[in-house]
Amino acid sequence: MLRGDFMSERWAWEKLNAEEIERFAEDYKQFLNRVKTEREAVNYIKNMAEQNGFRNINEIDTLKPGDKVYGVFRNKMIILAIIGTKDITKGVRIIGAHIDVPRLDAKPKPLYEDSGIALFKTHYYGGIKKYQWANLPLALHGVVVLKDGTKKEIVIGEDENDPVFVIPDLLPHLAKKKQGQRQGFDIILGEELHVIVGNRPAEKKEDKEVKNRVKEFVLRILKEKYGIEESDLVSADLEFVPALKARDTGFDRSMIAAYGQDDRICAYATLRAILDVSNPEETVIALFVDREEIGSDGDTGMKSRFFELFLSSLIEKVKGETNEKYLFETLINSRAISADVNAAVNPLYKDVHDTQNAGYLGKGVILTKYTGSGGKYGASEAHAEYIAWIRNILDKRGIPWQVGLLGKVDEGGGGTIAKFLAERGIQVVDMGPGLISTHSPYEISSKADLYSTYLAYKAFYEE
Ligand code: MN
Ligand code: MN
Repeated sequence: MLRGDFMSERWAWEKLNAEEIERFAEDYKQFLNRVKTEREAVNYIKNMAEQNGFRNINEIDTLKPGDKVYGVFRNKMIILAIIGTKDITKGVRIIGAHIDVPRLDAKPKPLYEDSGIALFKTHYYGGIKKYQWANLPLALHGVVVLKDGTKKEIVIGEDENDPVFVIPDLLPHLAKKKQGQRQGFDIILGEELHVIVGNRPAEKKEDKEVKNRVKEFVLRILKEKYGIEESDLVSADLEFVPALKARDTGFDRSMIAAYGQDDRICAYATLRAILDVSNPEETVIALFVDREEIGSDGDTGMKSRFFELFLSSLIEKVKGETNEKYLFETLINSRAISADVNAAVNPLYKDVHDTQNAGYLGKGVILTKYTGSGGKYGASEAHAEYIAWIRNILDKRGIPWQVGLLGKVDEGGGGTIAKFLAERGIQVVDMGPGLISTHSPYEISSKADLYSTYLAYKAFYEE
């Protein structure tokens, strides 16, 4: 048996096949470039699932071992499952990742004109450092739904020939008083996250005076290109995201810099893992949820009862009947991984970590016994027995892994979906790669950590 890597002594690069790492990373970068919102993630995952033999659970009456199904909820949450040979109420294996990412959402009445410039007002979503979002190329993704239900899908800023959008920071020449005296997190305020969208006047109409002609010109473009009126923006999910492509990083190309790796790196590893599993003993489930970045609230987040409904449907279609007792038994007997990222040690800010209990870039997937903050508040914790079971699986397969906690005691903290799985009685532990500069517009990951995460998830499904 291989010795465990609990002291982070060995590089993931030295335990894994470099060509396999590279191939997996290429696919991952394509995924990142195509998927920037939760809706786009659901579409991508659904398509991949269908191509790999998964069918919509609503179209199937009975399920037998080996059958593959998926369920989509409100275009923002998707669950995949492969039926195992063992009685489903004896427990299932769940890996849950989140597909929402910090970004800037357009307000319901976003558009205005000031000083000859048209702007969109936004409200940031999730924990961002607002100053990081100024003077960065932004793309606009999302949907506008008309009153008759027609859905207009919008993606502007990803194609090389598309325009982008920019939040205008203050020039340093005039920033001394205005920004120089502000606190770090407030260098740019929430109401200064307005995005420039136009600066050209609409042509005057002969008979009447047009006010706010720059705003008017933007509205005419929205009308001509998309059939959208200003009032239609009230019923829209529009997100500004960095218009940046995933890129290899470093002379050695060992890393990937990209937007949205928290938590798409785990979502992608989870998807690939379940697609590569066949005929599992226990039923395996891949959960892709929304709303994690704001506490998992909302009908498409991990608190959503759609999860119970899906599980109950599985039980019914496998056993011919379902009831509350079957559902509770299944939950209590189940094991899960909360697939989320941890903070890898950033050499410039090492002192926020307990370096003995922190994860490092390139040393493999990180096992996180608990998250939360100050006295372990706000988090579930994995039991010793469960950690033992998991690390045995990882060592058995020679998968590089390390221990990691999120920062020093009382330094800060954070949570994941783990506690929402735990409150349903499921055994759960957090496991995922470490990132550097998490929640920034351009997060950094290790290709070797990505691949070790995939291998770890696959092992969890198969062992
Ligand atoms: Mn996350
Ligand atoms: Mn996050």
